[in-house]
Amino acid sequence: MGNGINAKIKLSNGVEIPALGLGVWRVNDENELRTACKTALEAGYRHIDTASAYNNEDMVGRAIADFADRKNIFITTKLWNADHLNAEAAFERSLKNLRTDYVDLYLIHWPSQKNDNYPAAWKSLVKIYESGKARAIGVSNFHKVHIEKIIGATGVAPHMNQVERHPLLQQKGLADYCAGLGTAMTAYSPLASGHLGDIADKIRPVAEKHGKTAAQVILRWHFQTGWVLIPKSVTPGRIIENAQIFDFELDQADMAVIASIENGSRFLPNPETANF
Ligand code: NDP
Repeated sequence: MGNGINAKIKLSNGVEIPALGLGVWRVNDENELRTACKTALEAGYRHIDTASAYNNEDMVGRAIADFADRKNIFITTKLWNADHLNAEAAFERSLKNLRTDYVDLYLIHWPSQKNDNYPAAWKSLVKIYESGKARAIGVSNFHKVHIEKIIGATGVAPHMNQVERHPLLQQKGLADYCAGLGTAMTAYSPLASGHLGDIADKIRPVAEKHGKTAAQVILRWHFQTGWVLIPKSVTPGRIIENAQIFDFELDQADMAVIASIENGSRFLPNPETANF
């Protein structure tokens, strides 16, 4: 796994995913996105997390083409709910937007109970994986009930489950269930999606002890607990700050402080009741 900016987590099929990625949800100004990607790549990030629903795959594709060597970058993108029955065509559109002929990780974005087509979508992702155009496949916002359903339909467990996770919502039960399947975990909204202020005061003593910021302590906690983390920032100084988490270690007392903060708060919809 390693313990530096090049740290990676091995998926069940042997593919290695960089533990730190840059999230780009709600980044739709191309100059802002290019600056964020360029700053991140210069700081050593090698993983970008996008989605067809973010309407910026094309901008991400142009930024990677301009600032990096595609084969050195791990690209994650996601299938939107409206495309569950047209996953292969949607995937080809994502490839075109991203200016690439493969993605590193392709995820079903939400289980979308509205039409219950996600098991069919998973069958298509398995086909895409078998074609070699996605190096790994997985899901996002899937709870046990959803994962059981897709495994029931295909016999294939996801390589990854990307879910909301931060100190207020630590997801231990879901992570334990996924570990049993060999499914790795990615923390989205790892800094509580703009609600860092709700947590920072409680983390401050730990941050001061290590000479780090509250954001760095939280990101380090994700890393030390074995999760991939994809903080979003368009602020160059923060993008760099969020990568400076590999030169200190949280001890048991620090971990206990973070464990005590959990209260179940979510900033994104609950996947079991979301209806879109
Ligand atoms: P984050 O938890 O990453 O928080 C982002 C917010 O925190 C922004 O307002 C950012 O501000 C601010 N921020 C970033 N770094 C720091 C710092 N060091 N100090 C203080 N503030 C900071 O939220 P997101 O919800 O964006 O989640 C991250 C990524 O996860 C998304 O971009 C997306 O890729 C993925 N995601 C996936 C979802 C899914 O359904 N699969 C759902 C939600 C997110 P600023 O940018 O102004 O610097």
